[in-house]
Amino acid sequence: MLTVNAYAAPSSDAPLEPVRITRRDVGPKDVLIEIKYAGICHSDIHTVREEWGPIKHPLVVGHEIVGLVAEVGSEVTKHAVGDRVGVGCMVNSCRECENCLAGEEQYCLNGNVGTYGSVDRDGTITQGGYSTHVVVDEDFVLRVPESLDFAAAAPLLCAGITTYSPLRHWEAGPGKRVAVVGMGGLGHMAVKLAHAMGAEVTVLSRSLSKKDDGLRLGADHYFATEDAKTFEELKNSFDLIVNTVSAPIDLAAYLGLLRRNGTMVNVGAPAEPLPLTVFTLFRNRRSFAGSSIGGIRETQEMLDFCAEHGIIPDTELIDASYINEAWKRVLSSDVRYRFVIDAATFA
Ligand code: NAP
Ligand code: ZN
Ligand code: ZN
Repeated sequence: MLTVNAYAAPSSDAPLEPVRITRRDVGPKDVLIEIKYAGICHSDIHTVREEWGPIKHPLVVGHEIVGLVAEVGSEVTKHAVGDRVGVGCMVNSCRECENCLAGEEQYCLNGNVGTYGSVDRDGTITQGGYSTHVVVDEDFVLRVPESLDFAAAAPLLCAGITTYSPLRHWEAGPGKRVAVVGMGGLGHMAVKLAHAMGAEVTVLSRSLSKKDDGLRLGADHYFATEDAKTFEELKNSFDLIVNTVSAPIDLAAYLGLLRRNGTMVNVGAPAEPLPLTVFTLFRNRRSFAGSSIGGIRETQEMLDFCAEHGIIPDTELIDASYINEAWKRVLSSDVRYRFVIDAATFA
């Protein structure tokens, strides 16, 4: 077993602190990754604060990981020492259910193994990427194309795939009007990706304070949702709305913006239920949907798509000692648009 440096949350409300944790021995199919950068996702915060249910503390979170392969097991064929690799939100799944067999391990019917806070196959609780090293089965390790800036690539492993997957599933592209609700980590990636796919993109943010950024990232239009006129002006206009907001919103108001056969897909994951009146769906034959990250094959496709189109998250690189401050800034929407931790500073 390898003992490594990490930052852990000791409880649901105490600041994260430096700790030493162990990583399992490298098995025949495992890859040891020397982590270089780890992104901060709002899900890390929901999880630690037990907003989605009780967890076992202390916990090391982080599921936007990039690093270099430091060691491979005897049967590993997909990765070699020195390769640039990434790990997202999952590190294993059953591999047998119909969803796994379809390459959609995120929907594993037996429950995939999350990168943190899940029961691993050896019975231990998985610990995430706010750390210097991690051991992962080679099938859940992605290749990070050389052309992508390494630090800025980290958020692609969650924010990137979580927005890419629904945009692909609901066929964002030329002739499609796509709205992105919330200009945070996921939202800013949804804007870049939908624009690269050829869709007409509108940002719906609470205020116009990030409008210049939105237009620079590829949005065609930008509206403030705190202005009631927005909902009048845009009603019946979108084919697809991607809601990335981490808090409850007034669903009926947003559903009213869908044109005939339009879909609103929720990727934001507030703890509270979102009340829905079905009559809003009857109008225009609207759909309301959810989407969770993406499968391994699609995550690789997204990384390659980003390399091909020169898409990279807008990031702020921080030291580990700044994590608690960064979390406060995420909670106050003061992030442009993803914090990435330099793993060298876990030492
Ligand atoms: P984030 O960077 O904090 O962005 C969330 C954005 O939501 C903010 O930038 C803000 O946008 C808006 N917002 C925040 N509080 C709000 C409020 N009270 N009312 C209205 N708007 C508000 O978070 P993130 O990392 O992108 O994650 C977003 C959500 O997606 C989280 O709930 C996270 O857990 C979830 N998530 C889901 C998946 C999945 O697989 N489905 C994967 C990753 C993350 P404006 O300032 O522009 O209004
Ligand atoms: Zn995430
Ligand atoms: Zn499965």
